[in-house]
Order: sequence, then structure tokens, then C-alpha cells
Amino acid sequence: MQSIAANLEDIRKEIKAACIKAGRQPETVRLIAVSKTKPAAHIKEAFDAGQVEFGESYVQEFLEKSKDPLLEKSPISWHFIGHLQSNKIRSIIDKVRLIHGIDKLSTAEELSKRAQQHNLQIDYLLEVNTSGESSKYGMLPDEVLSRAESLFKLPNITLRGLMTIASPESEKARVEFRNLRLLLESLKTVAPDPEKLTELSMGMSGDFQEAIEEGATMIRVGSSIFGWR
Ligand SMILES: *Cc1c(COP(=O)(O)O)cnc(C)c1O
Repeated sequence: MQSIAANLEDIRKEIKAACIKAGRQPETVRLIAVSKTKPAAHIKEAFDAGQVEFGESYVQEFLEKSKDPLLEKSPISWHFIGHLQSNKIRSIIDKVRLIHGIDKLSTAEELSKRAQQHNLQIDYLLEVNTSGESSKYGMLPDEVLSRAESLFKLPNITLRGLMTIASPESEKARVEFRNLRLLLESLKTVAPDPEKLTELSMGMSGDFQEAIEEGATMIRVGSSIFGWR
């Protein structure tokens, strides 16, 4: 197996190639290295190879890793990308740069309440179920628009964009990525500060090229960097 550093280098080249194909600047796509289930030593290896943004999915695991002595001197920027229950918000709120998986108005309300208590300003993304599969988390596109007004009013939290996990089939995935981008455009037309809605978190190991071609600003890549889980 290749080293984590070599995997990262490959991914960065692929990101660049996908950007060139799409006529985009490579700096407009941020790589989030998804380190769930992987030990702190592997995160350290990626950090030492220049990777700063990491994504974690499970609250307990994230909390343990975020205080691991191995990573003490590594100023990592953590993204929480998993499904987030309201009762877990409190424990992660002051440790993450961006929360990707808010999928209910009630969870956003709890996030706002906790952000006020901690006197923090928190950025978040709404998770959208673009495939319509009932097994997936996320708001349906119509729900995003109907909840928008309430979401925009919540103090101490800022909606920065949308996130999705697409279908495994790449042609379906491409349509879903495109629909997420169109949904973000619709959301901007009703937003008080549309210039804050800049992020599309979409694309994983198997489909990030398509996601970049459809406008992803953050891709979340795990197994292509760290190996199989
Ligand atoms: C695990 C996970 C990823 C990374 O998936 P890979 O296929 O390993 O790249 C991306 N996004 C979310 C939300 C995940 O849970």
C-alpha cells in the first residue's frame, strides 16, 4: 500500500486535473480528509504531509482524537461531517470549524442556543437528501426552502451552504450534485446575506471528480487517503 503522503499527493493532482477540466481554479476546492475510524497517528502523518482540514463523523471518537497528545502541536481544523443529534451539540461546539450535517430545523435551533451560551459564532451547512432514498439523512430540497426563513433568523449561527451524500452510481450522483448547486442558487434568492452562502460540500473518494465539475467547494475524501475502513 502507498503511504498516506503519497495518497494525498495523488488526490491533490486529481483535484487539479478535475478543476482544469471544469475550467475552475484549484484553490476554489478544499480537501477535507475524512479520518473517521483511523487512529491519531494516521492523522498526524497526513498533517505532516500538509493536510490541515479533517472530517470526523462520530462524536465520541472525534472528542478522543481532538485531545490526543499526538496531535497537540498540530493546529488541525476539524469539520464535523456525521449525523449530529441535538444532545451531542454541546460537546463539540467549541472544537469544530464547520458542522456539515444539520438536517432539521430543531437541530439548528439547538445549535443556535448552545452557540449563544458559549458566546460563539458557528458556521454550518444543511445536509440535503438529494437522492430521495429514505435510508439517507438530510432535508428534502423543498423542506430547505420552506424552512429557510426560520433558519436565517437563528442568532449566533451562520448557514454557509449545503452538503449531500450522493447515490453510488456516478451518473445519478452527477445529477444530484447539480441539483444541490441549483438548490443553493434558489436559497440565495431568499437569503438576507446571499454572499455568505458559498459552500457546496459534495463528493467523496468515488465521485469527487464529478462533484468538482458540478461546483463542489469542499470534497470529503476518506478511503483514498487513509485506506479502507
Ligand atoms: C465516510 C464519509 C466520507 C468519506 O467517504 P470515502 O468514500 O471514504 O471517501 C465523506 N462524507 C461523509 C459524510 C462520510 O461519512
